Amino acid sequence: MNPRYLLTAHLEGLARRELLISTCAACGTQQFPPKAVCTRCGSTESPRWNRVSGEGQLWTYATFHKTYLTGFRLPSPYVVAVIELDEGAKIYGNLAGVPTSSSLRIGQRVRAEFTTTDDGASHLIFVPADKEGT
Ligand SMILES: [Zn+2]
Repeated sequence: MNPRYLLTAHLEGLARRELLISTCAACGTQQFPPKAVCTRCGSTESPRWNRVSGEGQLWTYATFHKTYLTGFRLPSPYVVAVIELDEGAKIYGNLAGVPTSSSLRIGQRVRAEFTTTDDGASHLIFVPADKEGT
């Protein structure tokens, strides 16, 4: 079974420039990426999808010096970060709008923005909350 089906609602949300996070229908635990089985209660019910603000804080990050996916316009090196959303879930994505990772601070405020790749797909990035997006 292709696990990509679990991301369908999330990807449809990105196309509308909305950030959707899966939420267990049984216990309310938010999970990203979505899973077929809730990691908290074991429920296999289809998750609910909740729109979240996209605002949160930098939880951790790594700097990459090689581009693995074509279509992204982020210059190398680039930062991949785990963001703890204000709603509680953690989500990963590119952190753009920062000159180097040395200027990053765990706990700094970030917010979601949406970019469009060369193939027309909408992608999620994060930017420092005090800066305009890319
Ligand atoms: Zn659950």
